[in-house]
Amino acid sequence: MTDVRETASAPPATAAETNGSSVSERSERTDEHSASGPSTDEGGLLSVLAVDIGGTKLAAALVHSDGSIGPLATRPTPKGDAEEVFSALAAVATEAVGGEEVSGAGIGSAGPLDAIAGTVSPVNIPGWRGFPVRDRLAALLGGRRVVLVNDAVAGAMGEYHHGAGRGVRAMLGMVVSTGVGGGLILDGRVYAGPTGNAGHIGHTVVDLGGDPCPCGARGCVETITSGPAMVRWALANGWSGPAATGVALAASARDGDPVALAAFDRSARALAAGISSAAALCDLDRVVIGGGVARAWDLLEPPLTAAMADYAGLAFVRRVEIVRSALDGQAGLLGVAALVHDPETA
Ligand SMILES: [Zn+2]
Repeated sequence: MTDVRETASAPPATAAETNGSSVSERSERTDEHSASGPSTDEGGLLSVLAVDIGGTKLAAALVHSDGSIGPLATRPTPKGDAEEVFSALAAVATEAVGGEEVSGAGIGSAGPLDAIAGTVSPVNIPGWRGFPVRDRLAALLGGRRVVLVNDAVAGAMGEYHHGAGRGVRAMLGMVVSTGVGGGLILDGRVYAGPTGNAGHIGHTVVDLGGDPCPCGARGCVETITSGPAMVRWALANGWSGPAATGVALAASARDGDPVALAAFDRSARALAAGISSAAALCDLDRVVIGGGVARAWDLLEPPLTAAMADYAGLAFVRRVEIVRSALDGQAGLLGVAALVHDPETA
């Protein structure tokens, strides 16, 4: 799984940096000997800047080596051009860092991304197409080491180290929200794949003749399971909630509305089909589900458990545990920080 790409200006990588790392890294280390620059040896003891890039919100915080998190800095994600978005990112990063020294930074970004080039093209951030966010943040931090992973991979790492994924060997972390993302931990290490995109369970196909997906395929898990897909299906089948939102749909389901309940059942069945397939491929111990739809766990879990009985046949597939995220909004920040603090698991 070795996939570190050092740039030409970087010194030879250390053993720790090349040991199976499958995330995107960049470090110029141009100021190691400056008065303010920490040495590489001290790096693990310092705080890490953790950054979360989403389509609606940019967030950053310092994560200390004991896993505690400093104050969260956030900004709405600008809808403008590339530099406008980066300015907002630089603002949250600067606010989060304050006056402290950091050993490096981790970025969890909405995908897709290119881990080799260190660029991102988030579907919901139109201003960024092939944007070199890893190197731009590294420059802002005076050449500190920066790792870049998919946001769902970051979330999976957070759960694995600090949350509902502790103690397992093979897990899939999922985010079921506006979209459906996933990140794999296999044999105790993140598996991001050659381009950083492994684990995209939202774009595995569970309905052969299903609806077109924005990704270009059809019948993907995301076309059925995501919050907007559930709302769309419910509206098309006669539901008329107070607002066309997932929160309103959940409220209707709790009130016993049959169409809202059916939307959760349909979503859970697609989720179960995707999870069963992933478990059959990867021999998973556990699946940890976070995101907005998972906040309605009381509505999601019963039909999900029932559908797993249909789709999980083999004993090793049936043994997969499905649990709710223990960290929710903080999983991604803790996860990218773990990748910087402990490259051995990367
Ligand atoms: Zn798709």
